[in-house]
Amino acid sequence: MSSLSIMNRLAAGPVLGAEGYVFELERRGYIKAGPFVPEVVLDFPDAVRELHREFLRAGADVMVALTYYAHREKLRDVGREGDLEAMNRQAVRIAREVAREGGALVAGNVCNTWAYDPDDPATRGMVRAMYAEQLGWAVEEGVDFVISETNDYLGEALIALEVIADLGLPAMVTLAPTQPDRTRDGYGYAEACRILAAEGAQVVGLNCDRGPRTMLPLIAEIRERVDCAVAVQPVPYQTDAAAPTMETLRSPDGQRAFPIALDSFGCTRFEMADFALQARELGADYVGICCGAGPHHVRAMAEALGREVPASKYSPSMDLHPMFRADMAAKDAAFLPTWTA
Ligand SMILES: [Zn+2]
Repeated sequence: MSSLSIMNRLAAGPVLGAEGYVFELERRGYIKAGPFVPEVVLDFPDAVRELHREFLRAGADVMVALTYYAHREKLRDVGREGDLEAMNRQAVRIAREVAREGGALVAGNVCNTWAYDPDDPATRGMVRAMYAEQLGWAVEEGVDFVISETNDYLGEALIALEVIADLGLPAMVTLAPTQPDRTRDGYGYAEACRILAAEGAQVVGLNCDRGPRTMLPLIAEIRERVDCAVAVQPVPYQTDAAAPTMETLRSPDGQRAFPIALDSFGCTRFEMADFALQARELGADYVGICCGAGPHHVRAMAEALGREVPASKYSPSMDLHPMFRADMAAKDAAFLPTWTA
């Protein structure tokens, strides 16, 4: 199974993705919110290994190396520039190790750098150098393809695509749909995806920022504009027309919920299972989930797509729940009112 390339798997599709490592490991106490640099890769590798394994057991077809924000600009911010190479190499090694346990693919990962400025040509070289060094190490450690994600600018995404293509690897390039309808350098999302596909990206689409409800309409537009594979990896949060992105969600007292008070906006596993079916129906080829993801979401998505996965052994059996089983009426009568009030 692991010998199948990403392109073969997409042809047999959909491929199930699982991301959101940074958010989940922050929640578990291994990554600092704010900088969100994946220091956990070096400091607590077992924690990364375990989360990969949980996503693998839940049905993820791809182990994405946790190199998100492990680029020079970000590591400088937290005073760990000297750990850059070790962090990148170790992240790929851990992803490979777990991928082998279940025949998953390994994806190298790069993201927006926060260094790119479309009005400053000098930043193009800086960004290219950051991607080249990260992906050079990733290739040496062994990746099957590369995901370039949460791109705010088409221009920056195109630099990533060039670097990936130079390395001879398939590229999945996805944009972060934080704006109402276009990238920060002014391209409609569908048009930007069309350009990425024309420039050689094997997979294009959107990831992060939007929940299923506000991301799927954009995916429908992208599907119409490109012939290549389309990826959709929303955040499991209940975004809507009034708050189309997780960054714009506000609690009832008006406080911004992003990034560490989003819990009450979370989608259930059932909502994410519905999303997986809708995404497949729209013609998406790579169906996944981003920040906020838990293994329970991924398993529900896998099962909605008709799969039985290792974690399915422990999928819900409410008929065996002491209070929900069919003979509930026979339960202690004094107990029932507290469950039905
Ligand atoms: Zn995300």
